[in-house]
Amino acid sequence: MHDIVDLRSDTLTLPTPEMREAMGHAEVGDDVWEEDPTVKRLEAMAAERMGKEAGLFVTSGTLGNLVSVLAQTRPGQEVVLDLDSHIFNYEVAGTSAIGGVQMRPVKTERGFLTPAQVREALRPANIHVPPTGLVCVENTHNRQGGTCCTPEEIAAVAAVAHGAGVPVHLDGARVFNAAVALRRDAREFTRPVDSVTFCLSKGLGAPVGSVVCGSAELIGRARRIRKMLGGGMRQAGVIAAAGIVALERMVARLAEDHVNARALAEGIVTLPRLSVDLASVQTNIVIFKIERAGGPPPESPVNELVKGCAARKIKIHPIGPAAIRCVTHKDVDAEDIRRALDAFGEITSRW
Ligand SMILES: *Cc1c(COP(=O)(O)O)cnc(C)c1O
Repeated sequence: MHDIVDLRSDTLTLPTPEMREAMGHAEVGDDVWEEDPTVKRLEAMAAERMGKEAGLFVTSGTLGNLVSVLAQTRPGQEVVLDLDSHIFNYEVAGTSAIGGVQMRPVKTERGFLTPAQVREALRPANIHVPPTGLVCVENTHNRQGGTCCTPEEIAAVAAVAHGAGVPVHLDGARVFNAAVALRRDAREFTRPVDSVTFCLSKGLGAPVGSVVCGSAELIGRARRIRKMLGGGMRQAGVIAAAGIVALERMVARLAEDHVNARALAEGIVTLPRLSVDLASVQTNIVIFKIERAGGPPPESPVNELVKGCAARKIKIHPIGPAAIRCVTHKDVDAEDIRRALDAFGEITSRW
């Protein structure tokens, strides 16, 4: 039970007392000089969890994805990815603006490219066309509401790309949510790909940071690109220390967030004015719609719901004229979910 129930995003999680403690005592050095022992420990631990040779601590998932794309492409190449992907929609076109690569978005079912779609999108050897430089996949899928694909699905897509000599990047901002939801080791999702980025600052609760993992050679190139982009940090062990606690203590508990998201979604389907596709609720995200069946509709139902919730100290995030996204995380418990459902019921019953 919390005074404020913040369902807008899992990025709003606050560091745990254990994280604060670890940050206060972190052993540090200059990480651009590769002399910060805490950053090195986090990078080694992340690489181990991802089954890769090396890791690189970065400020954000966006920087991790940008560094990964730049390290594996040349200007003028094309990147194949899903139309709803985070890289294509929410990363300020950094890959094009800074990396000089063209995005090739493909419309998919639930956010996951199929092997056939990748085969079709790969460019032939022809002087008129941009060569395909990289294929990106995303798991869990943010815009599709936290849906998961299996390691086998990733492997099938990667096999097609690799068959054409094209590397694969996994935007695994929430890959641990997928691993926990499908009861698979995170390494199974990353084994087929060349690079992966995951976030420490979302459900895992760290205040800052993501890690890019891949071969030692790839991470060496990524380190230089991170420096070029201004992402070289000095005594970054202070924040990396919280990331270590996140990896050690916060992964298994993601299952609770999934139970809470499920409870929220199942409560929402019982409310006559709201609807949710239960099949899409697989991890910690619930996207629901406002259905204005019969009667005069309120001016703006989304705004009314957001405002009504705010008055009850419940924060929710509109993602369209009739859609809301709720994300569960460590600072939301079962009691908070009941409070949110009561609020949704009260507010929508007046419509
Ligand atoms: C959050 C997110 C990112 C970006 O992470 P930031 O740390 O917010 O830059 C990238 N990809 C996906 C799928 C995400 O959900």
